[in-house]
Amino acid sequence: MPFEKLGLAPAIIQGVKAMGYLEPTPIQLRAIPLILAGQDVIGSAQTGTGKTAAFALPILSRLEHHDPRPRVLVLEPTRELAAQVDTAVRDLARFTNLRVAVVYGGVGYERQNQALRTGTDLIVATPGRLLDHLQQGTTRLDHIQYLVLDEADRMLDMGFLPDVRRIVQKCPRQRHTSLFSATIPPEIDALAKWALVHPQTIEIGLRRSPAETVRHVIYPVAEEQKADLLLALLDHVNYDSVIVFCRTKHRADRIGHVLKKNNHAVAVLHSNRTQREREQALQGFRTGRYEVLVATDIASRGLDIADVSHVINYDVPQHPEDYVHRIGRTGRAQSTGDAFTLMVTEDARHVDAIERFIGRKVERVKLPNFDYKHSLLFTEQRPGELAAQQRSIRGVRLSGGGYYCGPVRRRRR
Ligand code: AMP
Repeated sequence: MPFEKLGLAPAIIQGVKAMGYLEPTPIQLRAIPLILAGQDVIGSAQTGTGKTAAFALPILSRLEHHDPRPRVLVLEPTRELAAQVDTAVRDLARFTNLRVAVVYGGVGYERQNQALRTGTDLIVATPGRLLDHLQQGTTRLDHIQYLVLDEADRMLDMGFLPDVRRIVQKCPRQRHTSLFSATIPPEIDALAKWALVHPQTIEIGLRRSPAETVRHVIYPVAEEQKADLLLALLDHVNYDSVIVFCRTKHRADRIGHVLKKNNHAVAVLHSNRTQREREQALQGFRTGRYEVLVATDIASRGLDIADVSHVINYDVPQHPEDYVHRIGRTGRAQSTGDAFTLMVTEDARHVDAIERFIGRKVERVKLPNFDYKHSLLFTEQRPGELAAQQRSIRGVRLSGGGYYCGPVRRRRR
């Protein structure tokens, strides 16, 4: 069905066309008519499904003309997401006279104060900074007609639910509320029951299935060869843009440094970086100035970084949900992508959990022409064999996961 048949305002359809969207994505097909009809909606959908436009298009259509009192509030868990949704909404609303203000922490108040003072139809905000503005009286929520709680599970993870509840209480009871969340844990279910009225639930795809267009591969490797394998992988694959995920900020900095030394155009994104540095990293990555973005999980949820050809998990994520969020950066919309995971023996338990979560086994692959210093990484061992080997080779650590990663041979000179 084309966008024209969904009942959107002509100026909004013009905006959609200018974005180059040819037809609605499944979540747009289902959410747009419901939100246009004034229904509360729970959207259980992964990132990359087009959910921003799914709520923005019908809401912008309903607003019609500019009014200086804010009528729409979109809450986002991180500054990056808020900035991204702000850009997407401005793009979609470009043929209207509607105004959008974005409000998040880590930057000065002056620009935000001014945007709020001059009057805005729509506010995209992170909870903490919005509460500051409400306290200072720079804005009010008593004319809010549409409330969107985006990435609600992420807000839960970050401990924002009490702030979210305080904000919801400041909005009029008579309003339309939409809640989007990749997963619906009990706390989010409770929030939805409290904040939404007779919501319609839209579930796109299997909640647990990662983007199906993605090719998943595991590269077993020993810890001390991880950086070398990463460099070899980058040389080996034909990538346009790649995000490398690390477990900690420190590891991200270190890998960023190694890649830089090896002449990769690389940016690093994690929460110890200043807002300016984070914006520059994202902007540079989007425009192609950087071909590699090294990031902690801060970048894995919701960020719309288009056309990422490869996601490389330098470290196996500790939670299966994070794997799904990380690989959500590639294989977006209709394009395909590759998700590579470097796995050391100690990761076996986490890899098992990921495979159970996504409902499939991920292929173990050996990188051709890479000088593996350890053998038997690729043979699955039975527990008895494993124990026997463990006894026969000294100084070799083995995990219980069935993969043996010991030295090929260690000769004394
Ligand atoms: P989102 O899930 O909102 O983060 O959107 C993911 C990506 O899909 C963004 O780059 C959007 O610009 C893009 N997108 C959204 N809707 C459509 C559509 N109908 N057709 C093609 N791309 C879309």
